[in-house]
Amino acid sequence: MFETSTAGSLPKPVWLATPKMLWAPWAASGDALIQAKRDATLLTLKEQEDIGLDIVSDGEQSRQHFVHGFLEGVEGIDFGKRVKMGIRNNRYEAEVPSVTGPLKRKGSVHKTEAVLARAHTKHKLKFTLPGPMTICDTVADSHYGSRAAMAMRFAEILNEEARELEAAGCDVIQFDEPAFNVYMSEVVEWGVAALNRAVEGLRCKTAVHICYGYGIKANIDWKAGLGSEWRQYEEIFPALAKSRIGQVSLECIHSRVPANLMAMLKGKDVLVGAIDVASEQVETPEEVAAVLKSALRYVPAEKLLPCTNCGMAPLDRHLAQEKMRALVKGAALLRAELGGKA
Ligand code: ZN
Repeated sequence: MFETSTAGSLPKPVWLATPKMLWAPWAASGDALIQAKRDATLLTLKEQEDIGLDIVSDGEQSRQHFVHGFLEGVEGIDFGKRVKMGIRNNRYEAEVPSVTGPLKRKGSVHKTEAVLARAHTKHKLKFTLPGPMTICDTVADSHYGSRAAMAMRFAEILNEEARELEAAGCDVIQFDEPAFNVYMSEVVEWGVAALNRAVEGLRCKTAVHICYGYGIKANIDWKAGLGSEWRQYEEIFPALAKSRIGQVSLECIHSRVPANLMAMLKGKDVLVGAIDVASEQVETPEEVAAVLKSALRYVPAEKLLPCTNCGMAPLDRHLAQEKMRALVKGAALLRAELGGKA
Protein backbone atom coordinates (compact mmCIF):
# COMPACT_ATOMS: atom_id res chain seq x y z
CA MET A 1 0.00 0.00 0.00
CA PHE A 2 1.15 3.57 -0.78
CA GLU A 3 4.08 2.67 -3.03
CA THR A 4 6.32 5.73 -3.29
CA SER A 5 8.05 7.14 -6.37
CA THR A 6 9.08 10.47 -7.90
CA ALA A 7 7.61 12.14 -10.97
CA GLY A 8 10.83 11.47 -12.89
CA SER A 9 13.84 13.73 -13.25
CA LEU A 10 16.34 14.07 -10.41
CA PRO A 11 19.31 16.43 -9.90
CA LYS A 12 22.53 15.43 -11.63
CA PRO A 13 25.92 15.23 -9.87
CA VAL A 14 28.16 18.25 -10.47
CA TRP A 15 30.59 16.12 -12.49
CA LEU A 16 27.79 15.32 -14.97
CA ALA A 17 26.08 18.69 -15.51
CA THR A 18 25.87 22.21 -14.11
CA PRO A 19 23.69 21.94 -11.02
CA LYS A 20 20.42 23.73 -10.27
CA MET A 21 19.29 24.64 -13.76
CA LEU A 22 17.12 23.34 -16.59
CA TRP A 23 18.81 22.50 -19.91
CA ALA A 24 22.06 22.36 -17.88
CA PRO A 25 25.22 22.07 -19.98
CA TRP A 26 27.09 18.76 -19.67
CA ALA A 27 30.28 18.83 -17.61
CA ALA A 28 32.00 16.27 -19.83
CA SER A 29 32.06 15.28 -23.48
CA GLY A 30 32.68 12.28 -25.70
CA ASP A 31 33.44 9.01 -23.98
CA ALA A 32 33.83 10.71 -20.59
CA LEU A 33 30.23 11.96 -20.87
CA ILE A 34 28.94 8.48 -21.72
CA GLN A 35 30.71 7.11 -18.64
CA ALA A 36 29.52 9.95 -16.43
CA LYS A 37 25.88 9.42 -17.46
CA ARG A 38 26.19 5.72 -16.72
CA ASP A 39 27.82 6.29 -13.33
CA ALA A 40 25.20 8.89 -12.39
CA THR A 41 22.40 6.46 -13.31
CA LEU A 42 23.79 3.76 -11.02
CA LEU A 43 24.33 6.29 -8.25
CA THR A 44 20.79 7.67 -8.40
CA LEU A 45 19.31 4.15 -8.31
CA LYS A 46 21.36 3.34 -5.21
CA GLU A 47 20.36 6.62 -3.55
CA GLN A 48 16.66 6.07 -4.26
CA GLU A 49 16.88 2.53 -2.88
CA ASP A 50 18.70 3.69 0.25
CA ILE A 51 16.11 6.40 0.82
CA GLY A 52 13.44 3.72 0.56
CA LEU A 53 11.47 4.63 -2.56
CA ASP A 54 9.45 1.63 -3.73
CA ILE A 55 9.47 2.48 -7.43
CA VAL A 56 12.78 3.89 -8.71
CA SER A 57 13.85 5.54 -11.97
CA ASP A 58 17.01 6.48 -13.83
CA GLY A 59 16.32 10.07 -12.73
CA GLU A 60 16.73 11.10 -16.39
CA GLN A 61 20.48 11.35 -15.78
CA SER A 62 21.25 10.79 -19.48
CA ARG A 63 18.98 13.55 -20.79
CA GLN A 64 19.65 17.25 -20.89
CA HIS A 65 15.92 17.89 -20.96
CA PHE A 66 12.96 15.51 -20.82
CA VAL A 67 11.69 16.48 -24.28
CA HIS A 68 14.86 17.22 -26.22
CA GLY A 69 16.58 14.11 -24.84
CA PHE A 70 14.01 12.06 -26.76
CA LEU A 71 13.96 14.25 -29.86
CA GLU A 72 17.70 13.75 -30.37
CA GLY A 73 16.83 10.17 -31.36
CA VAL A 74 14.21 11.16 -33.93
CA GLU A 75 14.79 11.77 -37.63
CA GLY A 76 13.04 14.72 -39.29
CA ILE A 77 14.12 17.21 -36.63
CA ASP A 78 16.73 19.85 -37.34
CA PHE A 79 18.57 20.86 -34.18
CA GLY A 80 20.57 23.38 -36.19
CA LYS A 81 17.38 25.22 -37.09
CA ARG A 82 16.56 26.57 -33.65
CA VAL A 83 13.56 28.85 -33.31
CA LYS A 84 12.86 31.10 -30.36
CA MET A 85 9.29 30.27 -29.48
CA GLY A 86 6.86 31.01 -26.67
CA ILE A 87 5.97 27.65 -25.17
CA ARG A 88 3.19 26.51 -22.79
CA ASN A 89 0.95 29.17 -24.37
CA ASN A 90 3.71 31.82 -24.25
CA ARG A 91 4.47 31.32 -20.55
CA TYR A 92 8.17 31.35 -21.36
CA GLU A 93 10.47 31.41 -24.36
CA ALA A 94 12.71 28.54 -25.37
CA GLU A 95 15.07 27.89 -28.27
CA VAL A 96 13.42 24.89 -29.83
CA PRO A 97 14.47 22.68 -32.76
CA SER A 98 12.35 22.44 -35.92
CA VAL A 99 10.45 19.57 -37.47
CA THR A 100 11.53 19.78 -41.11
CA GLY A 101 10.48 16.41 -42.55
CA PRO A 102 8.64 13.14 -41.89
CA LEU A 103 9.31 11.93 -38.34
CA LYS A 104 10.94 8.57 -37.73
CA ARG A 105 12.93 7.01 -34.89
CA LYS A 106 16.60 6.65 -35.78
CA GLY A 107 16.59 3.53 -33.57
CA SER A 108 16.14 2.93 -29.86
CA VAL A 109 16.37 6.20 -27.99
CA HIS A 110 16.43 5.28 -24.30
CA LYS A 111 16.74 1.47 -24.36
CA THR A 112 20.39 1.48 -23.25
CA GLU A 113 19.49 3.48 -20.13
CA ALA A 114 16.51 1.24 -19.34
CA VAL A 115 18.58 -1.93 -19.75
CA LEU A 116 21.30 -0.47 -17.52
CA ALA A 117 18.83 0.57 -14.84
CA ARG A 118 17.01 -2.77 -14.97
CA ALA A 119 20.27 -4.68 -14.50
CA HIS A 120 21.08 -2.75 -11.32
CA THR A 121 17.89 -2.66 -9.30
CA LYS A 122 15.36 -5.21 -8.11
CA HIS A 123 12.87 -2.48 -7.27
CA LYS A 124 10.02 -1.69 -9.61
CA LEU A 125 11.35 0.54 -12.36
CA LYS A 126 9.57 3.54 -13.82
CA PHE A 127 10.69 5.09 -17.09
CA THR A 128 9.52 8.48 -18.32
CA LEU A 129 8.93 9.71 -21.86
CA PRO A 130 7.61 13.07 -23.02
CA GLY A 131 3.95 12.99 -24.05
CA PRO A 132 2.94 13.73 -27.67
CA MET A 133 1.19 17.03 -26.90
CA THR A 134 4.04 18.37 -24.79
CA ILE A 135 6.55 17.41 -27.48
CA CYS A 136 4.50 19.34 -30.05
CA ASP A 137 4.58 22.33 -27.72
CA THR A 138 8.37 22.16 -27.48
CA VAL A 139 9.28 22.01 -31.20
CA ALA A 140 8.63 24.34 -34.11
CA ASP A 141 6.71 22.73 -36.97
CA SER A 142 7.64 23.47 -40.55
CA HIS A 143 6.40 20.21 -42.03
CA TYR A 144 3.08 18.83 -40.71
CA GLY A 145 1.02 22.01 -40.59
CA SER A 146 -1.26 20.65 -37.84
CA ARG A 147 -0.37 20.01 -34.22
CA ALA A 148 -2.91 17.18 -33.99
CA ALA A 149 -1.39 15.37 -37.00
CA MET A 150 2.15 15.89 -35.74
CA ALA A 151 1.14 14.67 -32.26
CA MET A 152 -0.33 11.47 -33.70
CA ARG A 153 2.91 10.79 -35.58
CA PHE A 154 4.91 11.38 -32.39
CA ALA A 155 2.50 9.02 -30.58
CA GLU A 156 3.30 6.23 -33.05
CA ILE A 157 7.01 6.78 -32.53
CA LEU A 158 6.61 6.91 -28.74
CA ASN A 159 4.67 3.65 -28.88
CA GLU A 160 7.55 1.91 -30.69
CA GLU A 161 9.90 3.23 -28.03
CA ALA A 162 7.59 2.29 -25.13
CA ARG A 163 7.27 -1.28 -26.40
CA GLU A 164 11.07 -1.60 -26.32
CA LEU A 165 11.24 -0.14 -22.82
CA GLU A 166 8.62 -2.61 -21.66
CA ALA A 167 10.61 -5.47 -23.21
CA ALA A 168 13.69 -4.14 -21.37
CA GLY A 169 11.85 -4.77 -18.11
CA CYS A 170 10.32 -1.42 -17.16
CA ASP A 171 7.33 -1.86 -14.86
CA VAL A 172 5.81 1.57 -15.45
CA ILE A 173 6.06 3.79 -18.51
CA GLN A 174 5.03 7.35 -17.83
CA PHE A 175 4.29 10.07 -20.35
CA ASP A 176 4.90 13.62 -19.16
CA GLU A 177 2.19 16.02 -20.31
CA PRO A 178 2.53 19.38 -18.54
CA ALA A 179 0.93 20.87 -21.68
CA PHE A 180 -2.36 19.16 -20.68
CA ASN A 181 -2.89 21.88 -18.07
CA VAL A 182 -2.46 24.60 -20.68
CA TYR A 183 -4.43 23.52 -23.75
CA MET A 184 -7.44 21.91 -22.12
CA SER A 185 -9.78 21.90 -25.11
CA GLU A 186 -7.10 20.40 -27.37
CA VAL A 187 -6.53 17.68 -24.77
CA VAL A 188 -10.14 16.61 -25.21
CA GLU A 189 -10.02 17.07 -29.02
CA TRP A 190 -6.82 15.12 -29.72
CA GLY A 191 -4.41 15.03 -26.74
CA VAL A 192 -5.91 11.98 -25.05
CA ALA A 193 -6.32 10.20 -28.39
CA ALA A 194 -2.60 10.69 -29.04
CA LEU A 195 -1.82 9.37 -25.56
CA ASN A 196 -4.01 6.30 -26.18
CA ARG A 197 -2.05 5.66 -29.36
CA ALA A 198 1.25 5.97 -27.45
CA VAL A 199 0.28 3.23 -24.96
CA GLU A 200 -1.37 0.90 -27.48
CA GLY A 201 -0.55 -2.77 -26.83
CA LEU A 202 1.46 -2.16 -23.65
CA ARG A 203 0.94 -4.64 -20.83
CA CYS A 204 3.05 -2.87 -18.20
CA LYS A 205 1.58 -0.07 -16.10
CA THR A 206 1.12 3.19 -17.97
CA ALA A 207 0.99 6.66 -16.46
CA VAL A 208 0.55 10.27 -17.44
CA HIS A 209 2.11 13.06 -15.39
CA ILE A 210 0.26 16.37 -15.51
CA CYS A 211 1.64 19.18 -13.42
CA TYR A 212 1.93 22.94 -13.31
CA GLY A 213 5.58 22.74 -14.34
CA TYR A 214 9.03 22.70 -12.83
CA GLY A 215 9.74 25.05 -9.93
CA ILE A 216 11.20 27.78 -12.15
CA LYS A 217 10.31 31.48 -11.94
CA ALA A 218 8.13 31.58 -15.09
CA ASN A 219 5.96 28.81 -13.69
CA ILE A 220 5.78 30.27 -10.19
CA ASP A 221 4.66 33.64 -11.66
CA TRP A 222 2.08 31.88 -13.87
CA LYS A 223 0.62 29.96 -10.93
CA ALA A 224 0.24 33.20 -8.97
CA GLY A 225 -2.27 34.39 -11.60
CA LEU A 226 -4.36 31.22 -11.76
CA GLY A 227 -6.82 32.30 -9.10
CA SER A 228 -7.89 30.86 -5.79
CA GLU A 229 -8.90 27.48 -7.18
CA TRP A 230 -7.03 25.68 -9.97
CA ARG A 231 -9.68 23.78 -11.93
CA GLN A 232 -7.74 22.93 -15.13
CA TYR A 233 -7.79 19.23 -14.20
CA GLU A 234 -11.59 19.30 -14.10
CA GLU A 235 -11.75 19.94 -17.85
CA ILE A 236 -9.50 17.04 -18.81
CA PHE A 237 -10.23 14.36 -16.18
CA PRO A 238 -13.41 13.03 -17.84
CA ALA A 239 -11.45 12.27 -21.03
CA LEU A 240 -8.58 10.79 -19.02
CA ALA A 241 -10.94 8.63 -16.96
CA LYS A 242 -12.11 7.03 -20.22
CA SER A 243 -8.56 6.64 -21.59
CA ARG A 244 -6.33 3.55 -21.69
CA ILE A 245 -3.88 5.17 -19.24
CA GLY A 246 -3.68 3.33 -15.91
CA GLN A 247 -2.17 5.97 -13.64
CA VAL A 248 -2.43 9.75 -13.38
CA SER A 249 0.29 11.77 -11.61
CA LEU A 250 -0.85 15.11 -10.18
CA GLU A 251 0.39 18.24 -8.45
CA CYS A 252 -1.26 18.49 -5.04
CA ILE A 253 0.76 19.89 -2.12
CA HIS A 254 0.83 23.72 -1.98
CA SER A 255 -1.25 23.86 -5.16
CA ARG A 256 -4.76 25.27 -5.26
CA VAL A 257 -6.16 22.14 -6.88
CA PRO A 258 -9.34 21.10 -5.03
CA ALA A 259 -8.75 17.54 -3.74
CA ASN A 260 -12.28 16.47 -4.68
CA LEU A 261 -11.37 16.65 -8.41
CA MET A 262 -9.51 13.36 -7.88
CA ALA A 263 -12.87 11.62 -7.51
CA MET A 264 -13.28 12.14 -11.27
CA LEU A 265 -10.45 9.64 -11.90
CA LYS A 266 -12.41 6.64 -10.63
CA GLY A 267 -10.73 3.40 -11.63
CA LYS A 268 -7.29 4.94 -12.15
CA ASP A 269 -4.28 4.83 -9.86
CA VAL A 270 -3.59 8.36 -8.67
CA LEU A 271 -0.03 9.51 -7.99
CA VAL A 272 -0.57 12.21 -5.42
CA GLY A 273 2.06 14.97 -5.44
CA ALA A 274 2.99 15.40 -1.79
CA ILE A 275 6.38 17.08 -2.30
CA ASP A 276 6.62 20.67 -3.54
CA VAL A 277 9.44 20.95 -6.09
CA ALA A 278 9.20 24.76 -6.13
CA SER A 279 10.11 25.22 -2.47
CA GLU A 280 13.44 24.90 -0.69
CA GLN A 281 11.64 23.92 2.49
CA VAL A 282 11.77 20.19 3.20
CA GLU A 283 8.31 18.85 3.99
CA THR A 284 7.77 17.12 7.30
CA PRO A 285 6.46 13.55 7.21
CA GLU A 286 3.32 14.90 8.91
CA GLU A 287 2.72 17.39 6.07
CA VAL A 288 3.17 14.63 3.50
CA ALA A 289 0.78 12.34 5.38
CA ALA A 290 -1.80 15.14 5.62
CA VAL A 291 -1.82 15.63 1.83
CA LEU A 292 -2.17 11.90 1.26
CA LYS A 293 -4.95 11.75 3.81
CA SER A 294 -6.92 14.49 2.08
CA ALA A 295 -6.58 12.53 -1.18
CA LEU A 296 -7.78 9.36 0.58
CA ARG A 297 -11.24 10.89 0.84
CA TYR A 298 -11.51 10.62 -2.96
CA VAL A 299 -9.06 7.84 -3.95
CA PRO A 300 -9.16 4.31 -2.49
CA ALA A 301 -6.00 3.43 -0.51
CA GLU A 302 -4.99 0.67 -2.91
CA LYS A 303 -5.06 3.16 -5.78
CA LEU A 304 -3.15 5.97 -4.07
CA LEU A 305 0.58 6.30 -4.77
CA PRO A 306 2.56 9.03 -2.96
CA CYS A 307 4.71 11.00 -5.38
CA THR A 308 6.35 14.39 -5.98
CA ASN A 309 4.53 17.30 -7.66
CA CYS A 310 6.97 17.25 -10.57
CA GLY A 311 10.52 16.31 -11.51
CA MET A 312 13.31 17.63 -9.30
CA ALA A 313 16.08 18.20 -11.89
CA PRO A 314 16.59 21.92 -11.15
CA LEU A 315 16.81 21.41 -7.34
CA ASP A 316 19.88 21.18 -5.15
CA ARG A 317 20.82 17.50 -5.04
CA HIS A 318 20.97 17.24 -1.27
CA LEU A 319 17.62 19.04 -0.93
CA ALA A 320 15.99 16.62 -3.40
CA GLN A 321 17.28 13.69 -1.36
CA GLU A 322 15.83 15.15 1.83
CA LYS A 323 12.50 15.67 0.09
CA MET A 324 12.42 12.07 -1.14
CA ARG A 325 13.17 10.96 2.42
CA ALA A 326 10.23 13.03 3.68
CA LEU A 327 7.96 11.39 1.10
CA VAL A 328 8.96 7.90 2.22
CA LYS A 329 8.54 8.80 5.90
CA GLY A 330 5.17 10.45 5.29
CA ALA A 331 3.84 7.38 3.48
CA ALA A 332 5.12 5.17 6.33
CA LEU A 333 3.42 7.41 8.86
CA LEU A 334 0.07 7.08 7.12
CA ARG A 335 0.51 3.32 6.72
CA ALA A 336 1.17 3.02 10.46
CA GLU A 337 -1.78 5.26 11.27
CA LEU A 338 -4.17 3.20 9.18
CA GLY A 339 -2.57 0.07 10.68
CA GLY A 340 -4.21 -2.54 8.50
CA LYS A 341 -7.58 -0.82 8.54
CA ALA A 342 -7.35 0.01 4.84
ZN1 ZN B 1 5.93 17.93 -13.91
